[in-house]
Amino acid sequence: MSTTAAPEAISQGPSFRLSAEQEEIRKLARDFSDKEITQQVAEHHDREGLFPHEITKKAWEIGLMNCIIPEEYGGLALGALEECLIAEELAHGCMGISLAIMANNLGIVPVKLSGSEEQKQKYLGQLTEECGFCAYALTEPEVGSDPGGLGATAVKKGDKYILNGVKRWITGAGVSDWYVVFASTDPSQRHRGVSAFIVEKDHPGVSIGKKEDMMGQRASYTCDINMDDAEIPVENRLGEEGTGFYTAMKTFQYTRPAIAAGAVGVAQKALDLCLQYSLERKTFDTFIANHQAVQFMMADMHRDIMAGRLLTWQCAWMCDHGISNNVEVAVAKLFTSDNAMRIATDAVQIYGGYGYSREYPVEKLMRDVKVTQIYEGTSQVQKIVIGRAIIREHAKRMGINPKEIG
Ligand SMILES: Cc1cc2nc3c(=O)[nH]c(=O)nc-3n(C[C@H](O)[C@H](O)[C@H](O)COP(=O)(O)OP(=O)(O)OC[C@H]3O[C@@H](n4cnc5c(N)ncnc54)[C@H](O)[C@@H]3O)c2cc1C
Repeated sequence: MSTTAAPEAISQGPSFRLSAEQEEIRKLARDFSDKEITQQVAEHHDREGLFPHEITKKAWEIGLMNCIIPEEYGGLALGALEECLIAEELAHGCMGISLAIMANNLGIVPVKLSGSEEQKQKYLGQLTEECGFCAYALTEPEVGSDPGGLGATAVKKGDKYILNGVKRWITGAGVSDWYVVFASTDPSQRHRGVSAFIVEKDHPGVSIGKKEDMMGQRASYTCDINMDDAEIPVENRLGEEGTGFYTAMKTFQYTRPAIAAGAVGVAQKALDLCLQYSLERKTFDTFIANHQAVQFMMADMHRDIMAGRLLTWQCAWMCDHGISNNVEVAVAKLFTSDNAMRIATDAVQIYGGYGYSREYPVEKLMRDVKVTQIYEGTSQVQKIVIGRAIIREHAKRMGINPKEIG
């Protein structure tokens, strides 16, 4: 029997080849990254903690921002896979600048998922008419990994909701015109009492807190959003009361692939730099690339970059085909972020003492990539998602009552 699959079987099976259009998007992003996010530009924004207004404007002009907005609201209607291609290339330049360009998706996705036609026209339309920013506000000073117990409240009074509370660590909040804010309309119901709102920066009672002085990704403008008897029109509620938690969690199925892709981009940058450096630096009369210990570190990097990229593309592909990817995206984010952190650390090792200097590029990669193990769900939270899912699935096959499973 022949072991070669028939050509029709191959064409129907999974494809690991990007389409011509996807290759073009990837090249556009790579060229943009090489030209606009040079080492010098990345270092400058990192050192000064500067938000990259000019670069985001250029990215917006050539269509690298907000690409997932549907055509009817002026967008390009690209998918999660295309977003991953862009995220990887931009993060190869600088993950902080990449985040400044990509983070709008965190505000766009909940509106796409749960917004009314009027909300989509108004808020998504705004983003395609001019280069603006939006944010996603779930985390609070006392609430991160367990967002079911939010402290922010929303009380309906006539044609308004009165919102009170603080949202912490909100990416892009300092430059955004509006935010998707999650607040409790019924605290007794915990996650079932969470509702989502589109809050504008100029709504009465809304203010921005101080900018976070972060370890990495310093080009991104992260800060608190304070709501002090903030008055939000009823028509700005996103979806029905009590559906906010679903919107908040479902959003991650669409946005985590790009975080994973960003981690792959940083890891690839680390490997590229190591390949270059190890063929310049000599010890014991030979390039350090010829020492097997160094070679093995780079081989491990290459292995995990390849595997991480495929996991990322797979969960993005699932997103684009309407297939729930809860576990796959958790695996992709966990794998790519943990490995990118190790790869960046090994890159510092391969650079030796110079790796520890801010005059060389690898220490920044280590600082930048650390947060991929924290935001949009920590690595521990991803393990909880994966562990519970596989245990539940197996318990079902064994006929164990699901109530007995945590
Ligand atoms: C740079 C940056 C940007 C961010 N951007 C945004 C944003 O745009 N919008 C937004 O809403 N949030 C944002 N966040 C917040 C981020 O999502 C939270 O920091 C993250 O979810 C973790 O929450 P926490 O910091 O409260 O940690 P905690 O929840 O307090 O966790 C502390 C530690 O305990 C571990 N832990 C907690 N519970 C468990 C458990 N059950 N089992 C095992 N371990 C556990 C965690 O993994 C972690 O190691 C951002 C954070 C950073 C740093």
